[in-house]
This record gives sequence, C-alpha cells and structure tokens, in this order.
Amino acid sequence: MATDLYEILDVPRDATPEDIKKAYRRLARELHPDVNGTPGAEERFKQVTGAYEILSDPEKRQRYDTYGQSSGTAGFPFTDIQDVFDMFFGGGFGVGTRTRRGPRRAAAERGEDLNASVALSLSEAAFGALRRLDVERLFTCERCMGNGAEPGTAPVACRTCGGSGELQQVRRSIFGTVMTAATCNKCRGTGQEVLDPCEACFGRGRRKSGDTVTVDVPAGVSDGMEIRVPGGGHAGVRGGPAGDLHVGIHVEPNGAFERRGQDLFSVLEVPFTQAVLGAQLEIETLDGPDRIRIDPGTAPGTVIRLRGKGVPNLNRRGRGDLFVAIEVSVPKGVSKQERELVERLAELRDERTSKREPTPAELRRPAR
Ligand SMILES: [Zn+2]
Ligand SMILES: [Zn+2]
Repeated sequence: MATDLYEILDVPRDATPEDIKKAYRRLARELHPDVNGTPGAEERFKQVTGAYEILSDPEKRQRYDTYGQSSGTAGFPFTDIQDVFDMFFGGGFGVGTRTRRGPRRAAAERGEDLNASVALSLSEAAFGALRRLDVERLFTCERCMGNGAEPGTAPVACRTCGGSGELQQVRRSIFGTVMTAATCNKCRGTGQEVLDPCEACFGRGRRKSGDTVTVDVPAGVSDGMEIRVPGGGHAGVRGGPAGDLHVGIHVEPNGAFERRGQDLFSVLEVPFTQAVLGAQLEIETLDGPDRIRIDPGTAPGTVIRLRGKGVPNLNRRGRGDLFVAIEVSVPKGVSKQERELVERLAELRDERTSKREPTPAELRRPAR
C-alpha cells in the first residue's frame, strides 16, 4: 500500500492545487463506499481523503514536503471520514442512496406518555389500592375532530411542499445532479396545511384538559416500582393511539415494620419476667392485632417467624413472612420489695451480685 501522499492521489510532487483537487474528485467518485462495494475500496477512500486533507492545505502540504512522514502530519486525522467528505461535497451523496422518494402520508403519531406518582402506606402497598389521580391530558379536539381545521373546512395539501412533506433540493456536484430531501418546515412533514385553524385548539388538533385517572395498584408493590396505565397519556395525533400513563410508586416508611422484599421485620420488647416465664402477647401485624407466644426462657435477640404475615407476592399467590425479634427489657429503679425478690432469686440461682444500693449516678442514668 502506498504511503506517499502524492502516490496515493496519483499526482506528481509539483502538482498544482487544481491538479490535486481534480485527482481527489476522480478517486473519491471511484472509491466512495456508496458507489464502490469492492473490498478495500473504503480503506483506500479513507486514505485518499486523508492525503487530500493534507495536500490541499498549503501549510500542511509544505510541512509534509519538508518533513515527510516523520512530521506526524501524514496520518489520517479524521474521526469521521464522512464528515470531511460532506464538508467538501455537501451532504446527501447520490440519488437513491440517501434520498427518500415519493409522497409521504400524514402519519398518525402516538400520543406522548405522561408521568405521575402516588404515595402509599405500607398496608396499601401490601394489599393494593385504588387511587384517583388528577392529571392534565391532551385530548383530541372535539370541535375539529383532531384535524385542526374549523368545522366546514378541511386541511389542504401543504402549499410549500405540495403535500409530500419533503422539500427536494437539487445540488450540483462532481457526481452530477444530487437530489436531497429535507422535511418540510412548513407542515413539519405532515404534507397538510390548515388554512382556517380550529378556534378551539388553534389548529393543534388537541386540547389540554384536566382528567381523573383511576389507578388500580396491585397488591405487593414496592417503593420505586412503576405502574403503566395503557392509554392514560396524551391523545394521539391524526388518529394515532394515546400514550401511556406511568405511575411511580412511593411507599412511605412504616415505623413498626421494616420491609425486605416481601418479608417484614419488627421488634417486640418484653419484660424479663415474660422472657423467663413465657407469655402470650398481642402484637401488631399488617392484618391487625395478632397473638404471639413467647416461650419460657426466651433469650434476647430470639426471632419468631410468623409465616404468611408478610407482604403478599406481586402477581402470584402467597405472602412473605413476619419476623419478630424479641428484645428483653431490664427494669431500672426497682422498688425495695422487687429488689429483695431479685436478690432472693440470685441467691437461689447461686449468682453473685454486688448486693448494694445503686449510686445516684446509676439511678439517674436514663433507661435506654
Ligand atoms: Zn380543534
Ligand atoms: Zn409541507
């Protein structure tokens, strides 16, 4: 592969700028990837364009002539060869490769999506909820039935683009006549123009109005989820479907329960007597008050699992569990009589205690 830039462009070293330009145009036309599919053509095209980029610039050419390859200027410093090519020849290479032809239909457009959010309690998230949301939505205008024209009139073919929705531009280039097409800026590609705009929607075809959407939040949702209400977004354009409403779920923290997935965790504080002797206690669950059995001799930190008392699974049967961690409260500032009883207990159990009155500082120490 040739590395000399003059060789690449197939011109003598004393070629005039005009010779270089001509040579480049000839080679680019031959090698452009849009017209030449043979292997290696694209590589050569890049090489040729790179060579031209240097030899067409008098300063770079002189640097190249003086320092040659070692100057570091002989590389191909383009990130996108097509950009350079477009800069030189203008965009839109070749008829049929980048030109869309034929009249365009005024396409139906789907309405935009809307976003909203709901705040739920843990219980609502667990068991589901119906929520009414006030949203501002674009509705198809009733006066013009969405076409934007006053009743009795109709949209006409766009006078700027003749109804095609595109503006053809003829460009003369080294490749001959090149047709390019751009979206018509008058009708924004719809091909239609409203001469007598609807008074209600000012020709837009849609009108904003308040609406109430009922969102059926399923049981088992969690914070950060999103519910999609199909068709709950803005109305479509020219008969297109409505967008969706996306409802973000925010679950407010609950003081009694910590949620991990579908399981719930709570803490139950029991007096040391109940921990020692056992008890039947009432506890709060998501489903309301329930009873829990504390076995005699329950150690602090014991976790009692209540199966099926957690959060229902989303979209399937079953529920998570409720885990109740037992904390044992130790009384402070016991009465004389209580103290004697505990001391008696310690003696019976042969447990040595300090057997002294607590200091004022110990009595002042706040309970946990
Ligand atoms: Zn209207
Ligand atoms: Zn137009």
